[in-house]
Amino acid sequence: MRVALYDHAKLYREHRGEIDAAIARVLESGQFTWGEEVPGFEEEFASWVDARHAVAVGSGTAALTTALRALGIGPGDEVITVANTDLADSAAISAVGASVVWVDIDPESRCIDTTACEAAITPRTRALLPVDMYGHPADMVEMRRIADRHGLALVEDACLALGAEIDGSRLGSLADVTCFSFAPGKHLGAYGAAGACTTQDAALAERIRRLATNGQARERNYGPKPSLGLHHEAEGHNERMDELQAAVLRAKLPYLDEALAVRRAQADRYTERLAGLADLPGQKTGFRHAWRNYVIELDRRDALAAHLLAQGIGCNALYSPPMHLQPVYKGLGCAAGSLPTTERSGNRLLGLPLGPHLSLQQIDVVAEEVRAGLA
Ligand SMILES: *Cc1c(COP(=O)(O)O)cnc(C)c1O
Repeated sequence: MRVALYDHAKLYREHRGEIDAAIARVLESGQFTWGEEVPGFEEEFASWVDARHAVAVGSGTAALTTALRALGIGPGDEVITVANTDLADSAAISAVGASVVWVDIDPESRCIDTTACEAAITPRTRALLPVDMYGHPADMVEMRRIADRHGLALVEDACLALGAEIDGSRLGSLADVTCFSFAPGKHLGAYGAAGACTTQDAALAERIRRLATNGQARERNYGPKPSLGLHHEAEGHNERMDELQAAVLRAKLPYLDEALAVRRAQADRYTERLAGLADLPGQKTGFRHAWRNYVIELDRRDALAAHLLAQGIGCNALYSPPMHLQPVYKGLGCAAGSLPTTERSGNRLLGLPLGPHLSLQQIDVVAEEVRAGLA
């Protein structure tokens, strides 16, 4: 590949000293659970996103599932979300026994259409689950208003939007729970699965933490007076972050601002070089994009993708087809045509390579090949 979508090994080599030291610190401690790295990361991460509490969990999927469970969402409840996203959102809703309700998206931000969301609320609706698509924040100010007006819980999937901002504030404190993923290809990538929930509510943070550690409290298992036997306060799951991942993330967190600046510069470059060639991703007033993906839309998507791949340029069509058209959800009866903006976007979208493993010169190469592929 001339321009790859990811190069995790290259990014590792750039900070090899700190990362190797962090990993060795955990291995030497012999403490792979209930150690000091997870609480240390929780504190540093909460401070970075400017949220009161962070709970480190095993993945973005675990963050979503545990957040819904901690909010008491379960059988008989409906949760409203979007279909142009990771399976994790719909699967988390099903995992707690609730019913998924998909609504359409706003064509510019590609995040939840707030009017459609409010119109879909029924007496059974218990929670709203907007997704910050590709790094563009959902309209969380309006979503908060809707949730408050109807007495609903608000969970935000910010797995693609670490570092995105609304009115100058980083995402992480606008929803009841904000969920993050540290999958290797996300803004802050672990070397395996990892995720986090942030919240302003101390009791909710503690509930999430217990549910993610088999219903056990840290103080019973670690510290000066651990209990002799088991003590389960809730029927939790094993959804915790492991000490190794926490140590790796602590080593990488100091470089996150720099990596975000690189992403923003690359997105600006694409926007400048690709003007007029396709529908380019926008940034609504008051919102600051985190640019996990640079996703263009065009009618000749498949032909352009074939050209780029033939030229050694990585590209993908995430997230498409949307969840309501995936085989797994056929039984839910949400037919083609029911979410027109979501479907049109899904048929036309193409993600281009972007990230701190690339140089601006490589972005220019991609832009040139997009031009050539459409000529
Ligand atoms: C990556 C991602 C998830 C899932 O996170 P994992 O860490 O892979 O479980 C959920 N939602 C969105 C929007 C994502 O991009």
